[in-house]
Amino acid sequence: MFPFRRSKRILSAFAALLLLTCAGCLPSAPQSATPVPSNEPVVLAPPSASPLPTPLPEPALKYLFLFIGDGMGPKQVQAASEALLAGGREPLHFLGFPVVGNVRTKNIDRETTDSAAAATAIATGTKTLNGYLGLDENKNRLVEISETLRDMGRKVGILTTVSLDHATPAGFYAHVDSRRSYDMIADDLFASGFDFFAGGRFHDTPDVAEHAAENGYTILSSPADPAESADKLIVSSGLVFGDYGVPPAIDGGARAGWLKQCTALAISRLDQPNGFFIMVEGGRIDYFCHYNDAGSFVAELLDMNDALAEALAFYTAHPSETLILVTADHETGDVSLSEGDRAVLLRQTISCDNCDDTLVAQCVSAQTPFSDALPLFAAAFGLGELTADETAYLKEAYGHTLKGDLPSSKSNEEYGVYEPITSACATLVATRAGLRFGSGAHTGKDVSVYALGVGSEFFAGNYENTKLHDAILQAVAAYPLS
Ligand SMILES: [Zn+2]
Repeated sequence: MFPFRRSKRILSAFAALLLLTCAGCLPSAPQSATPVPSNEPVVLAPPSASPLPTPLPEPALKYLFLFIGDGMGPKQVQAASEALLAGGREPLHFLGFPVVGNVRTKNIDRETTDSAAAATAIATGTKTLNGYLGLDENKNRLVEISETLRDMGRKVGILTTVSLDHATPAGFYAHVDSRRSYDMIADDLFASGFDFFAGGRFHDTPDVAEHAAENGYTILSSPADPAESADKLIVSSGLVFGDYGVPPAIDGGARAGWLKQCTALAISRLDQPNGFFIMVEGGRIDYFCHYNDAGSFVAELLDMNDALAEALAFYTAHPSETLILVTADHETGDVSLSEGDRAVLLRQTISCDNCDDTLVAQCVSAQTPFSDALPLFAAAFGLGELTADETAYLKEAYGHTLKGDLPSSKSNEEYGVYEPITSACATLVATRAGLRFGSGAHTGKDVSVYALGVGSEFFAGNYENTKLHDAILQAVAAYPLS
């Protein structure tokens, strides 16, 4: 069949590309043999029995990865990609994938979706209302791709950097008509029987430990501390970091590499003869686009890209059995790009949340004068040399912060959701980078899907987000396990 052959070519080409990246490690080819003197007859050696190339095994779709950057529109991807390029760093892994599709994201009754309706569309192939999870607009229960694959014998892992009961991860296991029904969502999580979860902590579920024990789950505080037990696992970052979500990637520290480590642990726990389905969400890209913090959303996107490296390493070892998809549920922030120094997006080293909680709190408490505070903020946001206009802009914002003379709504209007000095620093980063936020909300913009591996050909084209579900099923049917 056509897709069968085409996929093999894609596999071969990409496997060759991956191998080429290691070509420098190989010993160089031997020099040609000493020339034969021309006055002697040339005796041709019998053709050597050169080994036939080992044929690739028949593709069978055993392992599926679905990476979802929440709020990750094409301009978010472009900004991160160009920042890496400007910073002399390795490009985003998924931009090299051989198949790219364009995905429309509207929900069933409006142009702009939320993460619940979008996750439901991707997971079930049915558009629904905002706020609904795993239900159609009439509240009929839908079957999620994760459930279908579980029933086909694959192990299932759901990973996110927001809380485990948040809309996108819940779209792959829950069936409720409100994304805020956290207690019911948690019940559905435990009833799913999925083998691995990783994310922040639960909301309204005080008896999580009890639920977990009853349903055969062991809760871990860290992916670095995997249980020996054969139980199903839940890695809950809240046990270490406290917050509902995993702390911002840009703030580093103990948080660094958390999603990558969880992805590696999921792969090692779920690899079995019938394969797995692993959904990994970069959930805080959306959060920082809502709050117009450009350096922080880029850090979240790069954090998901680091986790993707684990899937790529697995693909390299299992190229004829693995499909990797990278996509988004919708765009957030109405991001546009113009001329600018994208590398400044990589120099910011603090999230606006953390800046408010630490640097601003300390300065306000000590009533630190602007001349002393400015170098601290400039360093945290990687601002370097400041022009007179930039300095004046920060000075005015800092004055408002010290005096606390802007009510939160006014601060929101003039500067953003953070303290005026924090928002002003984030605005300077974005302005220098040539990045502009048109809003603090979701938009109806299209997103992209990047596909690599067995069945990737089903993801080319221009289509509604529901097709992602359908195309996964098509790929699974086209490349069955023997
Ligand atoms: Zn959002």
